[in-house]
Amino acid sequence: MSRPIRSIIHYAALQHNLRVVQAKAKNAKLWAVVKANAYGHGLQHVFKTFRAADGFALLDLQEAQHLREMGWRGPILLLEGIFEARDLEVCSRLGLWHTIHNDAQIEMLAAHKTLQGHRVFLKLNAGMNRLGFDARQFRSVWARLNAMHQVEEISLLSHFARTESAQDVIESLRIFNEACHDLPGERSLSNSGAILAHQDVIAKESIADDWVRPGIALYGASPDAHTKTALEWGLLPAQSLRSQIIGLQRVSVGERVGYGSDHTAQENMLIGVVACGYADGYPRVLRSGAQVLFESGVRCNLFGRVSMDMLTINLNPALEKGLEPKIGAEVTLWGKTRNGIGLAIDEVAAHAGTIGYELMCAVAQRVPVEEDLEGF
Ligand SMILES: *Cc1c(COP(=O)(O)O)cnc(C)c1O
Repeated sequence: MSRPIRSIIHYAALQHNLRVVQAKAKNAKLWAVVKANAYGHGLQHVFKTFRAADGFALLDLQEAQHLREMGWRGPILLLEGIFEARDLEVCSRLGLWHTIHNDAQIEMLAAHKTLQGHRVFLKLNAGMNRLGFDARQFRSVWARLNAMHQVEEISLLSHFARTESAQDVIESLRIFNEACHDLPGERSLSNSGAILAHQDVIAKESIADDWVRPGIALYGASPDAHTKTALEWGLLPAQSLRSQIIGLQRVSVGERVGYGSDHTAQENMLIGVVACGYADGYPRVLRSGAQVLFESGVRCNLFGRVSMDMLTINLNPALEKGLEPKIGAEVTLWGKTRNGIGLAIDEVAAHAGTIGYELMCAVAQRVPVEEDLEGF
C-alpha cells in the first residue's frame, strides 16, 4: 500500500454548495471559479458537478484547454486575461473570453489577426488597486475596444477588495456606477463574500450583477470565517485531508518530542505519528493548539513540530475515551471523518494565521485524490 495520506473530494458537497450559491445569486449566471486546479480539488473532479454552472472562470490556459478536452463547450473566462500575444491564438481557437485589465493586453489584441471577434471583460479598478483601469480611464479604454474589429462584445468586470462590511461594498459599487452606469454590456461583480452576504445591497444600488464569480463557497469554506463560518452559511466541506497513524511512542513526563526538542511532556503521553507533513501541504507553523480528529472524531492536539513527512499528536484524549490507538488508525487533518464529524479547514487555517483558501490550494501533488461519491 502507498503512503496512507489522501485528499478525499466529496462530490455531494460540491453539488450542495453549488445549489446554496445558486439560490443566493437568484437569477444571475454563475461562473464556477476553478483557478489553481479548482482550489486544490482537481479540475477533473469538480467538473462533474460544476458542469451544472453557466461557465468556468480560471487563469491558466492549460486548465482552459483541459475543460475543452473534457467536453465543456460553454463559456470560459480568463480572470487575468492574456499574458503574451500568442495566448490570443489560444483564445481564438478555444473560444475563450478574456479579461482586459492593462494597456499591453489592448495593444496585443489590436495586433491580433482573427476573423472571429472576441468577447472581452473590461476590468475596472474599484478601489482595490490590484488589476484594472481606474474610473478616469475607463470610458476611453472602453471606446477604444469598442472600435476594434477584434472585439465582438464588451462586458464590465470589477472585484471587491473587502466584503466583510456592506459599507465597503457600497463604496466599490459607487465607484463602479460612476465609471460605467451608462455603458452597455453585461456586468460581473460578486465573489463568494458578496454573493453570500451582499446580494440585497447590490440589488438596492440597481446594478445588474449578470455573472457572479463564486470560488471558495463552492468548496465549502467561508470567505470570512471570523464573521461567519462555512457551516453557518450552510456550506459543506468538499475536501477532507486524511491519513493514518504510522508510529506510536509512549513518552514519560520530561521527555521531549520532535525536531528542536522543544516540546516537553508535562504528563505521560501516548504520541501518535501521523503520515502527513509540510511536504503534503500541512502548514509547518502549526503547533500545539492546533487539532486533528482521531478515528471517528476525538480531538487531539499536535505535540511537537510538523516535519516534512510526519506530524505528532497527543493521543491521551483517545485513551481517556477508552480507545486503544493502533498503527493504521485514521486521522483527519481537516474536512470530516468517515462518520461525518467535521473539522473546518478554516479552523486549522486560523491556527496557522492564514485562511482556508491557502490550505486547500497548497495540498501537494504527491497526495493521492480519492473520490467520495456518496449521495452524489
Ligand atoms: C478568485 C477570484 C474570485 C473568487 O473569489 P472567492 O473569494 O473564492 O469567491 C472571483 N473573482 C476573481 C477576479 C478572482 O480572482
